[in-house]
Amino acid sequence: MIAANLENWFAKVKRPMPWRRRPSPYVCWLSEIMMQQTTYAAVLPYYERFLKKFPTVEKLAAAKESDVLKVWEGLGYYARARNLLKAARLIVEKRHPFRFKWPSASAEWAQVPGVGPYTAAALSSVLNGERVPVVDGNVARVFARVWKLADDFSKLPARAKLAERLQPEIEKCRVPGDFNQAMMELGALVCTPKSPDCAKCPLAKMCAAKKDGAWADYPVKKGKKELPVRKMTAVIVKDAKGRVLLVQNREGGLLKGLWELPTVESAAGVTQVFSHFKLEQKNFKATRMDAEFRDPKSVPLTTATRKVLAACFQ
Ligand code: SF4
Repeated sequence: MIAANLENWFAKVKRPMPWRRRPSPYVCWLSEIMMQQTTYAAVLPYYERFLKKFPTVEKLAAAKESDVLKVWEGLGYYARARNLLKAARLIVEKRHPFRFKWPSASAEWAQVPGVGPYTAAALSSVLNGERVPVVDGNVARVFARVWKLADDFSKLPARAKLAERLQPEIEKCRVPGDFNQAMMELGALVCTPKSPDCAKCPLAKMCAAKKDGAWADYPVKKGKKELPVRKMTAVIVKDAKGRVLLVQNREGGLLKGLWELPTVESAAGVTQVFSHFKLEQKNFKATRMDAEFRDPKSVPLTTATRKVLAACFQ
């Protein structure tokens, strides 16, 4: 019942995403990575730009990391871009004399850098028809409501438990890739976090939360930790050629490889009395000495730096 309802509904409403028109391992993999934590509308222009610049996995494997990050600039979660490049190089290295050896089963996809259990299931079901259910945030929300599940789906064990519960459903479906995409599409388009459109839902008749008027209680919200605040002062210096003083983030972490404005920290101030006025001067010293003038269009920038430069120089 669940499988048939989902597949019939999906056949009528599925969005014409470009990677659905001509699915290949490269475009499906790229789109799945881009769609992690990101909406379709935000991904679409990046997907098109990325494929124009790197139309094949070979071209991607041969790219410089800074060029990949530049195309990714603004999409966030930059580890995804670095992992794509790393994985492309691994895939191309393992080439068969005549063709690449793409992963096929979900267990093989899960070995690829940046591919977790959810993405592995999505790729193997779409590309190889493997009967393995995906559980992302959208799917968790839908079935937390359908079955009134109180688990914390931010945790992997809860997602694995839900995948087990969905296994008998995917066994009954006609096309595993469509079944998985239908679940994700339902969460994205109909069973949305704040305003589910139950009248259009193919699972409405079996949804326990709808029956009890309790959809807002599912998934159960766990208290969010307050984020620590990091305060910084940055300087903006532009030279006569239009280049901007920038530093590259060389440490590990989320922003590795991206360029940003140099930051400064407070230094001793000075007071000096002149004949007609008293000077009170605040001082700052650079926290890094390796800043250099760069054309901001030629290097990948952090989002914060991009926003500041756009506000100052537009
Ligand atoms: S009936 Fe409503 S709450 Fe239940 S899964 Fe469908 S959209 Fe979500």
